[in-house]
Amino acid sequence: MKKLQIYNTLSRKKEEFEPIYQGKVGLYTCGPTVYNFAHIGNLRTYLFEDFLKRVLEYNGYEVKHVMNITDVGHLTGDGDMGEDKLELGAAREGKTAWELADFYTKSFVKDIGRLNIIEPNIWCKATDCIPEQIAQISELESKGFTYKTSDGVYFDTSKIDDYNKLSHLPLETLQEGARVEKNEEKKNPTDFALWKFSPKGVKRQMEWQSPWGVGFPGWHIECSAMSLKFLDSQLDIHCGGIDHINVHHTNEIAQAEAATGEKFFNYWMHGAFLNISGGKKMAKSDDNFLTLKKALIDKGFNPLAYRFAALSVHYHKPMEYSEEAFANSQKALANLYRSIASLGTESGAVDSVFKEKFLDSINDDLNMPQALAMVYEVLKSDLRPADQLATILDFDRVLGLDLKKCGREDELPEAIKMLIRARQDAKQAREWEKSDALRTEIESCGYVVEDGKEGMKVYKKV
Ligand code: AMP
Ligand code: ZN
Repeated sequence: MKKLQIYNTLSRKKEEFEPIYQGKVGLYTCGPTVYNFAHIGNLRTYLFEDFLKRVLEYNGYEVKHVMNITDVGHLTGDGDMGEDKLELGAAREGKTAWELADFYTKSFVKDIGRLNIIEPNIWCKATDCIPEQIAQISELESKGFTYKTSDGVYFDTSKIDDYNKLSHLPLETLQEGARVEKNEEKKNPTDFALWKFSPKGVKRQMEWQSPWGVGFPGWHIECSAMSLKFLDSQLDIHCGGIDHINVHHTNEIAQAEAATGEKFFNYWMHGAFLNISGGKKMAKSDDNFLTLKKALIDKGFNPLAYRFAALSVHYHKPMEYSEEAFANSQKALANLYRSIASLGTESGAVDSVFKEKFLDSINDDLNMPQALAMVYEVLKSDLRPADQLATILDFDRVLGLDLKKCGREDELPEAIKMLIRARQDAKQAREWEKSDALRTEIESCGYVVEDGKEGMKVYKKV
């Protein structure tokens, strides 16, 4: 059996995973900025992180998973200029920034639930950890890594010699990228805000006292302060989308390592984008983004069809959105549910040969397409149906496709149960026309009726 190998952005290599503490993993995943709905691009990253977490758990690790909620400080343009996305969103929707954050946080939690993404053990809001962020900035100040400008306190990136260790880009390239923002007072283009002052004469909704003046934290400091607070010395894996490599995660590492004098996380993993046609990244700021509701639920698709689609593409590869591709995933998932339902309900033994192959796939840097293909191999195999079922349900601990339920509701609604009983009676009385009419009625309520050797099976259409 292969030991778990993961691609570490830090070394640009696949490495064998070694946790800091035996049998345990500290996992930090950068969470949503809650000024709008998550789009299916964002959700692809959370799906990838869920695959990772489930793979770790399947390998027997106890995972402590922390996710932040960015409810302050993330500015338009992702840098140090522009407006706070939360304050701007609040003005757009006529809500307070706090109400806005609360609304979109709840909507995010609902979306990840619909995708069978396991919730983190710890959710942490940036606004709940302001003292920790101020403490980290003070530490950086006392060690000489900061300077003050008219609009905030900045991290001086020239004070460290490995600023580009995550991006692997020459410093000039990073500086070139950072130069798009006009801030004449910064000493180096890559320097970034740790604390921003509230603009003069403007009362922000979210602002706090600090040793440097009233203001709010920069975006990057929340993740380093909160990962150190909640994971302490268990800094194993830190994840996000690939857009976080060159700025957000690079800055997190710079400030955390400067503050503590120790290595921050050991492994950094990044998921590729979901693009809209033509290779353009789906982005929240673009207005044309698709939510889970719009792309799937409103079309009558099972949200897990998106999970199925995401499993079919390796997390390093870009994925392209098209309505047709989602419709195909929906069909494929419905077919899979049908095949699994036909195995019956008796669960036998997990096949060790298939299990080993499955482990080899997921442990090869989360080769989920190969792992998913293994389900079909099991279905084609000559294993007893009960053993096929047990093996597939074991794989579903990682795949998370609800294969146990196969798209069925746990309990059928009472009205459907009545129709089923009436149809059973009609069949027994050999009243075929009545039985057919009842079948049509059940189906028109969104259920599939199958007459087999073991009697009638009814389950929700997916
Ligand atoms: P945000 O809410 O904008 O802070 O982003 C939340 C997460 O979604 C981050 O990990 C981003 O890297 C990721 N992300 C943003 N856009 C995309 C996209 N089009 N495809 C995949 N992940 C994305
Ligand atoms: Zn982060």
